[in-house]
Amino acid sequence: MSTKPMKPLKKPNAQVQVDLRDAETIKCSSCNNYLFITSFILKRLSAIVSPNGQEALIPVQVYSCGNCGQVAEGFLEGSGLEEEIKSDKFPSLDI
Ligand SMILES: [Zn+2]
Repeated sequence: MSTKPMKPLKKPNAQVQVDLRDAETIKCSSCNNYLFITSFILKRLSAIVSPNGQEALIPVQVYSCGNCGQVAEGFLEGSGLEEEIKSDKFPSLDI
């Protein structure tokens, strides 16, 4: 039987204020670069499934690695591209 040491609970002064040093920096899973640029995946919605019956182009904003172009983890979810890109990779970030 072991008792876990209780950490003293800090009372947050302002709930909206966060210390970015406590936040995880997302790095490229391919090259470890941490600078990302905004990119768009363009999805073409066919007239059959489009709500207004017309073909539509839908831009999906993602962040891609400024070094190698790899899209950051999690941004491809729901875009229909996750299977292609994650084919031989496993997510390295476990949030
Ligand atoms: Zn990269």
